[in-house]
Amino acid sequence: MSLPACPSCNSDYVYQDQSLLICPECGYEWSPVEEALEAELNKVKDSNGTELAEGDKVTFIKDLKIKASSQVLKIGTKAVIRRIVAGKDHQLDCKVDGASDMMITAKFVKKA
Ligand SMILES: [Zn+2]
Repeated sequence: MSLPACPSCNSDYVYQDQSLLICPECGYEWSPVEEALEAELNKVKDSNGTELAEGDKVTFIKDLKIKASSQVLKIGTKAVIRRIVAGKDHQLDCKVDGASDMMITAKFVKKA
C-alpha cells in the first residue's frame, strides 16, 4: 500500500502510525479515513455536475473577467486544470489558453 504525499508540505516521506498518517518533515498528522470523507465532500464539479480532476481539459461556459485587469476570457476558452483547491471560491488552478495561469470557479467551466 502506498501512502499519499503530505497534504501540508507535499513530502513523500509520510508514514503510518496506527490510524494516523504522519509527515516527518512538517509534523502534520491526519487520519486517512477522515481525509477520504473530506475528499468526498470536497469534490469539485463543473457546471454539469461532472467531477473534475487535475489534468482535465475544460472550456469556459461564460465570459470571465480577470480580476485586476481589463482582459476578458471568452466563452469557449480552453484551459487545463493544473491543481484543484477544494473549499475555495475559485477551485481550479488552470493553465488558460492565451493567458497566464489563474484560479477559476468550477461552475463556470465544463469538462471538454
Ligand atoms: Zn508535511
